[in-house]
Amino acid sequence: MAYEVVVVGGGIGGLTTAALLAARGVSVCLLERQSVLGGCLAPFEKFGYSFENGAGLFALWNPGEIHDRIFAELAVTAPEVRPLDPAYAVRLPDHSEIAVTSNSEMFDANLRANFPECAERAINFYREAETLGNALLSAINRVPDLRNAGLKEKLRAFFPDLRTAARLRSLASDTTAQHLAGVSLRFRRFIDAQLQTFAQSSADDCAYLYACAVLALRTRGLFEMRGGGAALAATLAASIRKSGGTIRLNTPALRLAYDSEGRAAGVHLLSGETVSAARAVVSNLSVWDTFGKLAGLDRTPTEIRKRLKSVSGSGVYLLFLGVSEAQAQGISTDHIIAVTDLQDGCAYDPTEAQLTFAISSQTEPRGPAGMRAATVQMFTDVEQWFTYHEDESEHEQQDQTTLEGLWSRLHTAIPELGDAVEVIETATPRTWYETTRRKLGMVGGLGQSLPVFGPNSFSHSAPIPNLFLVGDTVFPGAGVATVSMSALIVANLITSR
Ligand SMILES: Cc1cc2nc3c(=O)[nH]c(=O)nc-3n(C[C@H](O)[C@H](O)[C@H](O)COP(=O)(O)OP(=O)(O)OC[C@H]3O[C@@H](n4cnc5c(N)ncnc54)[C@H](O)[C@@H]3O)c2cc1C
Repeated sequence: MAYEVVVVGGGIGGLTTAALLAARGVSVCLLERQSVLGGCLAPFEKFGYSFENGAGLFALWNPGEIHDRIFAELAVTAPEVRPLDPAYAVRLPDHSEIAVTSNSEMFDANLRANFPECAERAINFYREAETLGNALLSAINRVPDLRNAGLKEKLRAFFPDLRTAARLRSLASDTTAQHLAGVSLRFRRFIDAQLQTFAQSSADDCAYLYACAVLALRTRGLFEMRGGGAALAATLAASIRKSGGTIRLNTPALRLAYDSEGRAAGVHLLSGETVSAARAVVSNLSVWDTFGKLAGLDRTPTEIRKRLKSVSGSGVYLLFLGVSEAQAQGISTDHIIAVTDLQDGCAYDPTEAQLTFAISSQTEPRGPAGMRAATVQMFTDVEQWFTYHEDESEHEQQDQTTLEGLWSRLHTAIPELGDAVEVIETATPRTWYETTRRKLGMVGGLGQSLPVFGPNSFSHSAPIPNLFLVGDTVFPGAGVATVSMSALIVANLITSR
């Protein structure tokens, strides 16, 4: 079959790009190797539970922000979202709990009460970071492809606040740690854990400006979605079909097809069929998989091959739990980031020091009668899950050992859980690999350190003509909102907007 555009991968990036292109009248075909859409956000259902595959915190759903902007173009209504206030709470090992609320007065009071040892510094750090972060978020909202924008476009993005633009430029090479001098270790870990969750990188490495944007999300609020992230995938799929686009499930792409000029001209499928693309191929695969598998390393410039070796993503271990309604009522908030070890005297290692707990809301319990669905997430090194195993039982043993360690940390961090909790399933990096085919099961995008942030990020335009990249390993970064921005950028590039 021949189309104008072929999109490989039905994660949020691929689905959003295809939905926008189809709505703009482009003939588009989306290929997904799995029988379900959504990629990392695909629904996970078992024993009457419908689990959120992630933390269930969604950003930039206010009027005029990225999702509003995308759905304004589509033929469907956006999924229902509800602001969470507080968005989440951060717990420290000394049992202090800092509610991250959008009410700035209350938030300052929380910082004062929980960090008396460095309260003014903590508040000043936030004030500065949020001002800069909001300026950056507004600018990228005006000019999504800020990475490649020329001077005129950049001026338009920041107008009329050009002083802030100049300040942002002067801070582009700073790490977050450079702005945390004089704060206590407790406050430092409060920041580390949030950055690790939303930027896959702690203060030592995280680009200061990315941290500013992440921390500024507090002021705009975070949202939960009815039906979870899977509802977003289903709505985008409905939009593609309604606009005349084609979605093919169970259709793994093998390799790009090239024309005689070396341009991407379609996709060879594992089945032997070729799907032609007259205008463009969009890869929703990670940068490693796009170049390593789809394009082929022989077609990938040396410079990119070198970069691919030097960057990596995170491994995530998930625990899916059933929690009784009575037990759930005793937990202070539905979303908790827990620092389980302050790690005094050493660099922050999130695999040992933090976990994230997210439970479905009382209004949408997503479980059998009287039960709610909860997801616990911890970081893990991916390599250890892919070392040679004699047989499958070794992987199961590793899973069991990880589960036991996480279980005891979870009960220390959230003692309210008590005994009335049932383990329904676990997911390891190998599970992620099996479900998404991402290299080594690395999920959540690239850690936003200086070498991959902003101008140093991977571009949407590949060095292969007519090949574009969309998703959480290209600009602007990790998370559903940024993936959606990358989709808008790619749709604009293809349709010359
Ligand atoms: C545990 C966890 C928690 C998270 N929590 C949040 C959160 O609370 N809020 C938030 O905003 N973000 C969260 N995220 C991040 C967010 O879910 C991801 O960044 C985003 O969903 C990635 O989307 P994507 O389109 O880039 O790629 P993917 O979701 O990886 O999609 C890629 C798709 O391509 C398909 N594919 C692969 N190979 C082929 C092939 N050869 N042929 C055809 N198809 C192929 C895959 O099956 C997959 O469907 C979380 C992520 C994880 C892992």
